Amino acid sequence: MTKFNNFINGEWIPADRYIPNINPSDISDVIGEYASADEVATREAIAAARAAAESWAHSTPQERFNILDFIATEIFARADELGELLSREEGKTLPEGKGEVLRAGQIFKFFAGEALRLSGETGASVRPGVDVEITREPVGVIGMITPWNFPIAIPAWKIAPALAYGNTVIFKPAELVPASAWSLVEIISRSGLPRGVVNLVMGPGRVVGETLVSSEQVDGISFTGSVAIGHRIRATAAARGARVQLEMGGKNPLVVLDDADLDVAVNCALQGAFYSTGQRCTASSRLIVTEGIYEAFVEKLTAATAALKVGDARDATTQIGPVIDEKQLQSNLEYVESAIREGGTLVCGGQRLDLEKRGYYMQPALITDTTPDMRINREEVFGPVASVIRAADYDEALTVANDTEFGLSSGICTTSLKYARDFKRKSQAGMVMVNLPTAGVDYHVPFGGRKGSSYGPREQGAYAREFYTIVKTSYVWAGE
Ligand code: NAD
Repeated sequence: MTKFNNFINGEWIPADRYIPNINPSDISDVIGEYASADEVATREAIAAARAAAESWAHSTPQERFNILDFIATEIFARADELGELLSREEGKTLPEGKGEVLRAGQIFKFFAGEALRLSGETGASVRPGVDVEITREPVGVIGMITPWNFPIAIPAWKIAPALAYGNTVIFKPAELVPASAWSLVEIISRSGLPRGVVNLVMGPGRVVGETLVSSEQVDGISFTGSVAIGHRIRATAAARGARVQLEMGGKNPLVVLDDADLDVAVNCALQGAFYSTGQRCTASSRLIVTEGIYEAFVEKLTAATAALKVGDARDATTQIGPVIDEKQLQSNLEYVESAIREGGTLVCGGQRLDLEKRGYYMQPALITDTTPDMRINREEVFGPVASVIRAADYDEALTVANDTEFGLSSGICTTSLKYARDFKRKSQAGMVMVNLPTAGVDYHVPFGGRKGSSYGPREQGAYAREFYTIVKTSYVWAGE
């Protein structure tokens, strides 16, 4: 079995422990054994990033452009192979896996351009003979902690801006998906980047993650993952004065109004709730439907959900791949049971599937007759499970949509400009979709949520600079 090492200070470093990376579509398929770092190795990576920070902070925009462009170009050239690997380790279908890899390439291209575009502002002072200049400088050493559900896109949207704006990186991927992370860093290792600028430290959150978060040598932490871990990280990192950016869970509503185009609405719900096995922070998990369209919508969505083909992620006919692991699958099934116990009606799916290959398969679940106070409508499931809530009219639907501690993404299906406009303004979410699924975003504009879903500046697009740079204001008096 091939062993994959950590990348610290420009070298591939073996570890004492290695963890097998299991294919969730076929648990007899082991992709490789990936290093699991200890605290000492993590501290070495931090020291390497610290030592490289000063010099990299003064690298030229051209140097940063060349490196980011090299990475993007190779990602594009190897999209099929990397997409297959991603599908194999995470369980996304092949089009989803390749799509995510291409997205990572686009992100690196975008930030290659941003490296060239970074400029400041100058202005006249209120004092005579004085000039004012506003510039942006790198933050320094950034620790990145990422989840398993986007194994290459999320690392890309953290590493690319960090480098473009002159920071050094310690990247800790999720334990369940080290192969995409390793492949990305392997490309980065050949990009001409000076040693120590990017370090890969695979291993457990409790060891590698906590060492990064508590180290005085790490200037900023960018985290994507669950609310519970995010809050823990914020408490520790903010207490020592580090910069913190958190992207966490969602309980995203999709409102369907009487005047919606039925096919558009069903398609938005199907895509948003179940594709990528529902394992998206932006998944539509609460479908809030008004009276006039309720019966027709539920009937059509039920038929479409029941027809979804669940199977091996790399089988060309598969629409819904497996759940990531046994623990997540059990948790999904438990949420379905809790919804039924509280009065919901399971209209289709919701069971484990035993297919030819042993994997973590689940038929997507649609649950009707749910109310906003039920657990299924309050907690993030993070699986192929959606619940339907009946609303009397638009006003009630809006109230229900906002009745959540989360605020990542929201959507409305309507042909009314009036309601679409009102929803865009009043929805308490970071991203609002009209006649589009709640999941599926562009890479050149800000991404992020509000309320309990996010903390700190937005990711992606030019807004990423708010986290990865520090603003400096300089005053110059040139004399009489
Ligand atoms: P998780 O919180 O369990 O793990 C995320 C990362 O944190 C992993 O790398 C993990 O090893 C690390 N970690 C665990 N314990 C830690 C600790 N004590 N200190 C430091 N790091 C620690 O999340 P997950 O199960 O990998 O991912 C699913 C979650 O991610 C869902 O809640 C989902 O909504 C969220 N997510 C959010 C976004 C977004 O942009 N808002 C995107 C994707 C996923």
